[in-house]
Amino acid sequence: MSFIVAVDGPSGTGKGTITQLVAKKWGFQYLDTGATYRCVTLKLIKEKIKLEDEEKIKKALSEINIEFDGDKVYLDGEEVTKKIREEEVNNLVSQVSHIQIVRNSMVELQRRMSEGKNVILDGRDIGTNVFPNAEVKIYLDASTEERAKRRYKQNKEKGIDISFEDVKKNIEFRDQNDKNSTVGPLKQAKDAIYIDTSNLSIKQVERKVNNIIRKKKKLVDSIENGYKMTPNTPIKKITRAFVKGLLNGLYHIAFRVKVNGVENFPKDEGFIICANHMNYLDAAGIVLCNKKKIRFIAKADLYRFGILSWLAHLFDIIPVKRGKSDLNSIKLCLKALKNKEVIGIFPEGTRKGMAKNVKIKNGAVFLAEKAKVKIVPVGIHGTFKPFSKVTFNYGKPIDIMALKSDDPNWLDNASKKVMDDIIMLTKKED
Ligand code: C5P
Repeated sequence: MSFIVAVDGPSGTGKGTITQLVAKKWGFQYLDTGATYRCVTLKLIKEKIKLEDEEKIKKALSEINIEFDGDKVYLDGEEVTKKIREEEVNNLVSQVSHIQIVRNSMVELQRRMSEGKNVILDGRDIGTNVFPNAEVKIYLDASTEERAKRRYKQNKEKGIDISFEDVKKNIEFRDQNDKNSTVGPLKQAKDAIYIDTSNLSIKQVERKVNNIIRKKKKLVDSIENGYKMTPNTPIKKITRAFVKGLLNGLYHIAFRVKVNGVENFPKDEGFIICANHMNYLDAAGIVLCNKKKIRFIAKADLYRFGILSWLAHLFDIIPVKRGKSDLNSIKLCLKALKNKEVIGIFPEGTRKGMAKNVKIKNGAVFLAEKAKVKIVPVGIHGTFKPFSKVTFNYGKPIDIMALKSDDPNWLDNASKKVMDDIIMLTKKED
């Protein structure tokens, strides 16, 4: 699993310093993407290649070797940590970094260097272009005056002799270039967290960034934990039976429950229950008002919340990440069905999907076909108002294999048949 932190923003916002401190704290690899563009710039200067000479730039890019070792930077085997910060590179780097072939090549290099790792990268387009799906995105900003002051001080400490006015002019020039470029412009990603560092100390910004990472890590870890099903120990089974009994009692106090058709359940084999979805109480009703253990599929976010996460683990709920085909989730379902377990799925994919006219999801039929199991439709009828009647009508199992055909749309057609059966069952008289 990789965890990517993207830190973007203009020069002099403290990106480099903060990023390095944060990397150290979390044991993340640090990637200074600006240094990659600085290396290309230095190579072009050294080899006297003009910025208009695309062929020569292409050749230089195909030969370039950029390496990092701690805070040291190597270009083609030579240490250039200090050289890439000198005036000649400073004055040209912004233009070089916005040449399309340079950008393509460095973005590819940055992705390759980060592959499968926990990495914090600082740059201009990390959250928008290099890693648009980064786990954490931060945009650091500060006033031009403040940034120039910081860069001037930093240069002095490094023994680089440039006047304050020149530092400020260079920052303004690079800001203009970076923000207005059509190639990899400096822009805050929509989902990035903005931090104005003008009046904050390094320590204060570091603390803010660490807090953001801590929260996100906790969330990511909790979702990953969802995939680690806790073993069905005797204690867990007893706890589940107790909690199920208790909640079942409460459910029967809250509603007048009627369950029809459980005799339709296939015997001694795994199967999938598909229901209409009105609110969270319908899934609870299917799980609680059944002797059989039914494992629902629910969005992975459920594992974020303490008590819900505990219940999800207790009832072996299978998490699914929304918006993408989730291989982990599919594997868990297939394994469960092979073990003759029962899985609950809402083909609407969302609450009141039918009313919202959503396209019926074909995940249940897909799983049934892969695991060679039947689907039992259930129509749930009721308003879920306190003390009102709620009816669960289980129908005859649908043999998905019998619906399979060469028609490329067969999954959709079979899913529609499942949903039609569910709708019919919602209308059935008790
Ligand atoms: O971060 P640093 O100031 O070292 O970056 C040098 C220059 O490289 C920036 O002014 C910017 O023009 C360019 N750059 C970029 N995209 C990045 C990182 C740096 O365009 N991701």
